[in-house]
Amino acid sequence: MKWRGRRQSSNVRMSGGKAAGGGILGIIIGLVLWLVFDMNPMTAFQTGSSVAGGGGSTQTQPIDENSGRDAQFVSVVLADTERVWSQVFQENGMTYREPELILFNGRVTSACGSASSATGPFYCPGDQKVYLDTSFFAEMRQSLGISGDQQGSGDAGNQGKAGDFAQAYVVAHEVGHHVQTLLGISQKVNEARRQVSKTQGNELSVRQELQADCFAGVWANRNQQYIEAGDIDEALHAASQIGDDRLAHNRGQVAVPDNFTHGTSQQRVNWFTQGFQSGDINSCDTFSGAI
Ligand SMILES: [Zn+2]
Repeated sequence: MKWRGRRQSSNVRMSGGKAAGGGILGIIIGLVLWLVFDMNPMTAFQTGSSVAGGGGSTQTQPIDENSGRDAQFVSVVLADTERVWSQVFQENGMTYREPELILFNGRVTSACGSASSATGPFYCPGDQKVYLDTSFFAEMRQSLGISGDQQGSGDAGNQGKAGDFAQAYVVAHEVGHHVQTLLGISQKVNEARRQVSKTQGNELSVRQELQADCFAGVWANRNQQYIEAGDIDEALHAASQIGDDRLAHNRGQVAVPDNFTHGTSQQRVNWFTQGFQSGDINSCDTFSGAI
């Protein structure tokens, strides 16, 4: 995939550990305010906490040119999704709202609860953010047998390296869940799932996952000028190889890796292909008929 030197999204942020306000700093600020101004330390503590960005939330910072290769790459891919989905929404008389993408390492706190690298990439409807752990890409290169980008191999060597597009596909799939949320599809699925058996609920989830794959295909279709030979095969390979345990998604309020299957490899390949060939979200109705 051609990505070097292209526009980056301003919506990618690195998570930088816990906000300090709830910790030692908050206590010190509280004590000082209490000693100097005779202010209630609890009020002071809360003040310190909110100044630092909220007690339980994770502080984030924008990426810059010193951020690593994966951050730069993800920013370009996210910018591509912004361009494509703004266009698609506009075509349908709607306005696209861009999601933030949080890159984290270790643990992260989302509106859906806290998550670790073991959770895998996920989208949290509660705060409408995509969460991606940086170790996932490394694991993906390994599990898919991709050599990965070598540092310092020169510009030519960095273009179209095997593995790029598989990673882009993962980002596009997660953004697909954001699109489902904006369109009200995820909410309907959640409501419906509460009223049916576990088995039927799981099937609904599979259909939801396959639609996210189809949406990723729509994104690829409208991004063809940057696609290189072998990219689509790479995405299809990723779709068929990435296990459910790794591409886990949070459900409801708690970010726990779900046990729902994403569908069979063949189903995932079929729906990605469907979206890629049509470039039309209306061809991504995975909820009626056979999948
Ligand atoms: Zn998914």
